Amino acid sequence: MMENFRGGMSESVDVVIAGGGAVGSAVAYFLAQNSAFAGTVAVLEPDPSYEFAASARSAGSIRRQFSTPLNIALSEFGWQFLRSVPEVGLVESSYLLLASQAGLPALRENISLQHRCGVQAQLHHAKELSRRYPWLQVGDLAAGADTASGEGWFDGYALLRSLRAANERRGVRYVRDRVLHIDMHATDAVGGVRLAGGGAMQCRYLVLAAGTGSRSLALQAGVDLPVFARKRNVFVFECAKEIPRCPLVVDTSGLWFRPEGERFICGPAPEADPDVALGDFEVDDGQFDALAWPALAHRVPAFEAVRVTGAWAGHYDYNVFDQNAFVGPCDAVPNLLLANGFSGHGLQQAPGIGRALAEFIAYGKYRTIDVTPFSYSRYARQEPLREHNVI
Ligand SMILES: Cc1cc2nc3c(=O)[nH]c(=O)nc-3n(C[C@H](O)[C@H](O)[C@H](O)COP(=O)(O)OP(=O)(O)OC[C@H]3O[C@@H](n4cnc5c(N)ncnc54)[C@H](O)[C@@H]3O)c2cc1C
Repeated sequence: MMENFRGGMSESVDVVIAGGGAVGSAVAYFLAQNSAFAGTVAVLEPDPSYEFAASARSAGSIRRQFSTPLNIALSEFGWQFLRSVPEVGLVESSYLLLASQAGLPALRENISLQHRCGVQAQLHHAKELSRRYPWLQVGDLAAGADTASGEGWFDGYALLRSLRAANERRGVRYVRDRVLHIDMHATDAVGGVRLAGGGAMQCRYLVLAAGTGSRSLALQAGVDLPVFARKRNVFVFECAKEIPRCPLVVDTSGLWFRPEGERFICGPAPEADPDVALGDFEVDDGQFDALAWPALAHRVPAFEAVRVTGAWAGHYDYNVFDQNAFVGPCDAVPNLLLANGFSGHGLQQAPGIGRALAEFIAYGKYRTIDVTPFSYSRYARQEPLREHNVI
């Protein structure tokens, strides 16, 4: 260890991971397991309570009904991984994506892509929907799609905690500090990072997994990530009537709802969706009455008499370019590995992304799921890989 120019200590680490949320912790988890990797890892995470991390504020749901094959593959591995972690309390239950007549062609198109990817999504026309889900108001619906397996929900915070605990048992070091600055070795290589606590670390690879904090860090390496913080409110409510076999329903209004134990949670699609300040976690209470309740009561008449019992707000790291993640090395800075822009589906993908980046570091290439389609170069080329099913 050497003293650095600010008087703090400087050390050399093979892999620095900026951000110890689910994604950063999953990268560390798969590196620690990989016998081909014998290097050192430091996870830099300023908040061990994860108060504002998206991984602690998510709706913890997992699906296969995406429009991008890579998202399907990542969730498939995520599902297998979650099944092996009892602490997360994985519940198997379908998503039900509803469509009006106007939305039917897109739903059909997504289903045929999902079939090509091995997902047995099923289309049900309104009458059949009503038979399967008798509590659903289908008058204005053309159809809905669900699956028989491989979708559901889990405790996202428990996933994060289990990954971190497993890492610490294996000797992965979590440093309670914030990356302030990325030091460039040359214009095309990260040399290391400087920390808020005054220390510094040199590294071979920097994994940028700092959620909504990633954009400002990436800019220091000359990488302009089109990823911004977008607020999402989640409301918890009780319903006196029973809603049997309720899946995670995605309504035509953009609202989603699902059971959570004896209660329900829901999230309305915001009308305006501005970038928000990184510290703004105030719940927009008015959204329940203005957006959520009318849509809930319209779709499920039994929801006319619900009682809100809680709410929270969290931030999506939202990729405004194409709503898919940026993963892996940047052409312009090959030792900067991105894991950003998950746009609301990053928790289920954390195991798959963690394994992919660990493979890249250990072998110089992806061995299981090829995440190259998520590389940053698509943004540089202005060739979006759009995910249409963003919830
Ligand atoms: C309301 C809501 C509902 C969601 N629902 C789902 C869902 O149902 N299914 C799903 O798959 N996904 C869902 N998501 C998305 C999912 O939560 C995220 O995609 C995922 O948690 C991202 O994980 P992460 O580790 O990249 O980010 P985070 O969990 O945000 O972790 C980033 C970490 O980086 C740290 N950090 C920030 N700046 C720095 C810095 N300068 N230096 C070092 N560390 C730093 C932070 O302290 C934080 O702990 C939801 C998100 C929200 C907000």
